[in-house]
Amino acid sequence: MIIPKEIIDELIRQARQDAPNETCGYLLGICGPDGDVVKENYWMENIDHSPEHFSFAPKDQFAALKYARSKGLKILANWHSHPASPSRPSKEDLRLANDPTIRYAILSLFEGVHLNSFLILNGEVVDKEEHL
Ligand SMILES: [Zn+2]
Repeated sequence: MIIPKEIIDELIRQARQDAPNETCGYLLGICGPDGDVVKENYWMENIDHSPEHFSFAPKDQFAALKYARSKGLKILANWHSHPASPSRPSKEDLRLANDPTIRYAILSLFEGVHLNSFLILNGEVVDKEEHL
C-alpha cells in the first residue's frame, strides 16, 4: 500500500493534536495497477477518548463507507495512533481486527515517528509493511 508523504504528514498532525489519546480513522484510496494507493485520510472520532485503545461509532463507520463510495474510493485501511507505544498491534488490536481484507496501520509517536501497516488474519499478523 502506497501512502503519499502529504497524507502521512496529515496523520502525524492528527495524532499529535489528539495525543495523549489515540486518534483514528480510515485510509481511503484506489486499487491501481501498481497496488493500493491511499488518496485520503478520513478522520473518525475515537469514542473511547483513551490513550490506550480506540473504537469507532457504528454510525461513523457507515457514514465513512457511504462517503468513500460517493468518491469512488475504497476503505484500504483502518488506522490509529499509539502515542506512547511502538507501531505494532496490541493484543486488543489483534483481537478487534476482524476484517482480513483491509490493512491496519499504526502510527507511533514513541521514540520517533513510525508508521507500519499490517494484514491480520484470525488475530495474527500475516503481513507487515513499513511506511515511515
Ligand atoms: Zn493500538
